[in-house]
Amino acid sequence: MARPLEGPEELIEALRDRVLTVAPERKANDIIGHVDPECGGLVLTGPTSRDATPGLNHYRERLLIARDPARYTKQVATAGDPFGVAADDGGLFGHATLADRLRDQTRTRWSAFAVTPTGYIPADGQAALDAVVDRTNEIDDQALVVALPVGHLWLAEPRVRRLMAAIQSIHHPIALVIDGGNRTDPQEQPGVSEQLRALCASCDRLVVWRTDLAGLDSLAHGALGAAVGIYPGLRHGMRPPCEDDKKDGGPAGSFSALLVRELLRFMRIDQEKNRFFDAVCGLECPCTVCQGRSLASFKDIGEDQLLVARHNTIVINALGADLAACNAGLDRLDWWRQQLADAIERHRHMAAKAQIREKDAVPAVLLRWLQGSPPPLTEGTALG
Ligand SMILES: [Zn+2]
Repeated sequence: MARPLEGPEELIEALRDRVLTVAPERKANDIIGHVDPECGGLVLTGPTSRDATPGLNHYRERLLIARDPARYTKQVATAGDPFGVAADDGGLFGHATLADRLRDQTRTRWSAFAVTPTGYIPADGQAALDAVVDRTNEIDDQALVVALPVGHLWLAEPRVRRLMAAIQSIHHPIALVIDGGNRTDPQEQPGVSEQLRALCASCDRLVVWRTDLAGLDSLAHGALGAAVGIYPGLRHGMRPPCEDDKKDGGPAGSFSALLVRELLRFMRIDQEKNRFFDAVCGLECPCTVCQGRSLASFKDIGEDQLLVARHNTIVINALGADLAACNAGLDRLDWWRQQLADAIERHRHMAAKAQIREKDAVPAVLLRWLQGSPPPLTEGTALG
């Protein structure tokens, strides 16, 4: 795959049906060998790391790699300065600095495409959103993803229609990052899952970014691609200022979570007395990292944290590959619904085994995803 990609059209095709893995740059070497070049890729964030450079240079011809400046974790976008350019450069160079900076992302590094350093767009940030649209549409000769980091209120009526209009008017692929407000997981906010599905069905250049398995649900509903975080702090948007950004979403001070494919669930492994997790003891993972190891045997320390990151990378890529193997549309939705139904049934079985209440065991989001899909969001339809 040539580096950098030539422009919007080539980038759109490169991102189609792809599930990227979002990871701190300092951890790139830990997982890069486990990323599937056919249907995966890497989005690196956090502080730059010289240690990562040799590995990234080694894989740059085989993997789709990019860097997300994640300015949204540090700064709010304004109409006059949606990309934080003025803050760094005194505004002397205006939007020319944005184009130069985006070009630098691909000229001097291993990135196949650039990601805009968009600031966080708050609920009252319509003017900032408009500025992002206008400024990025002025650039037509670069492969770039336009980051749209929004609060969950943008996924509610009537704002969601304005968000849809903005997304539809941007010529480049869009990375939609959703902050959940007082809930860590934006999918727990009322209506977000449904409206996100409607957006995916309405916008053909949408990549659901810095997310969890909602990325698969989005792909099943028509998203162009997804970018799933390897650590909990990289699986949702964040409003600035974000202390977690200093640890770039990694497990230090946080926790590791193991992606259990059979349950479609990231499970914390630092809760030794988690009775439900104990019931998972029967599950062994056949992946090249675990090699048949019991999933219940992982601890949230040392070498195991590294192995969990690798296991998660493999499982995310495998899920993405299986989904992409189905024809877009009904075949893909059927496959996803079957995965959900199977995962819910396994939860129920394990709940019975662990003697805990079913409603405490089955994640609400799985039940929600199993519900019917809304129609695409258009001018004439209203949801919620
Ligand atoms: Zn594994």
